[in-house]
Amino acid sequence: MNYNFLKLLIEGLNNNKGWLKTWENVNPKKHYDIIVIGGGGHGLATAFYLASEYKEMNVAVLERGDIGLGNVGRNTTIIRSNYLLKENIPFYEFSLKLWEGLEKSLNYNAMVSQRGVLNIFHSDYQRDAYTRRGNSMILNGADAELLNVDEIKRMYPFFDYDNARFPVKGGLLQRRGGTVRHDAVAWGYAHAANKLGVDIIQNCEVINFRIKKNKVEGVDTSKGYISCKKVGCAVAGSSSILLSKLNMQLPIESHVLQAFVSESLKPVISGVVTFGAGHFYISQSNKGGLVFGGDIDGYNSYAQRGNLATLEDVCESGMALMPMLGNCRLLRTWGGTMDMSMDGSPIIDKIHIKNIFLNAGWCYGGFKATPASGWCFAHLISTGKPHKLISDFTLNRFYDGSIIDEKGQGAQPNLH
Ligand SMILES: Cc1cc2nc3c(=O)[nH]c(=O)nc-3n(C[C@H](O)[C@H](O)[C@H](O)COP(=O)(O)OP(=O)(O)OC[C@H]3O[C@@H](n4cnc5c(N)ncnc54)[C@H](O)[C@@H]3O)c2cc1C
Repeated sequence: MNYNFLKLLIEGLNNNKGWLKTWENVNPKKHYDIIVIGGGGHGLATAFYLASEYKEMNVAVLERGDIGLGNVGRNTTIIRSNYLLKENIPFYEFSLKLWEGLEKSLNYNAMVSQRGVLNIFHSDYQRDAYTRRGNSMILNGADAELLNVDEIKRMYPFFDYDNARFPVKGGLLQRRGGTVRHDAVAWGYAHAANKLGVDIIQNCEVINFRIKKNKVEGVDTSKGYISCKKVGCAVAGSSSILLSKLNMQLPIESHVLQAFVSESLKPVISGVVTFGAGHFYISQSNKGGLVFGGDIDGYNSYAQRGNLATLEDVCESGMALMPMLGNCRLLRTWGGTMDMSMDGSPIIDKIHIKNIFLNAGWCYGGFKATPASGWCFAHLISTGKPHKLISDFTLNRFYDGSIIDEKGQGAQPNLH
């Protein structure tokens, strides 16, 4: 089914009786050429690009629950490409370009909104660091502008500019950054992949792998055995559990990250803003809720809920930047399970078993990477060779020490 103006008009006159399902729920076939485990953003994007770019026509996505209930539907919806290191910035810029054309390529309204991402700085040292980052972005084809405090005052007059501890000194703005409605990304990719013949199989948990002569032959699932030629694992916070079935210990810890949404307010925050003196980021949804978040909860967990101490810490950071936040009532909170890698950067690579591929380690930044991750993972699975944009996202870097330490904070997930 195509979504277009004529169809909307016809359905409006027809009492909306003619809409078809966004994707078909099917039972698994006995065999697929490629199985993608995990129906989150990355798994669904991989399946879509496998079919659309690499012409793989016998592909299934196996999702243990329902599409969109993992991190893809739990994040704070921010997209950006404001990275520093040469291993990261071209990849995230490619992703941002794919976001810019996403709705057309999926024929689905994901509410991509390039409303700008502003990183506030509070010291001369931070200004220099952001200037360096901005220069790296521009050299790699991304957009970046350094704003002084007066320019920020015109955009956000209600910040606490003269806070003695955290004076606002300026900010790095990426105008092309913004937000995307997260669950529509899952639905859109599922819709478009399904239209190209990909089977989307929900409530189908992969329990184990069948391996012969160090090569994958299929997977055991809650819906029975399915044979296949290749498997792509894109299960985010469950990566350690899934890969432990292959006796692998990944350089990944699972941590909870929470999101918070306030009651609906009139439009007040036009873009995305991050605080530079604590971990706090905020935007406003189209429905009016202030959507914000901060640090991971700081202990290993697979729970999809967080604790009150982190809530307090996030709200304190928020109020240090915009005291008016204290007058606002919190409506909802939830948590997601983050696959925190040891250097804060992702892994898209082969593993020691032939024809099994791994996509993991997204930490709390994997939403913005969804299109590029799907594209590059599809390339790896289909061709067996890494796409040039992910040639550094190897598993081996944790053995040979060539880590991608974007934040310069070392091998401690709770710090990056
Ligand atoms: C509160 C919060 C805020 C965030 N904010 C941002 C942000 O603003 N910007 C940003 O870029 N990123 C953000 N992120 C991170 C981002 O959401 C994740 O990095 C990204 O969504 C992970 O990839 P995914 O979408 O494929 O994961 P998921 O949606 O979690 O997909 C993995 C899927 O695998 C399934 N699965 C697991 N095990 C199995 C199995 N054995 N068999 C079958 N299926 C299985 C799960 O059910 C799940 O649906 C945030 C995350 C959270 C929780």
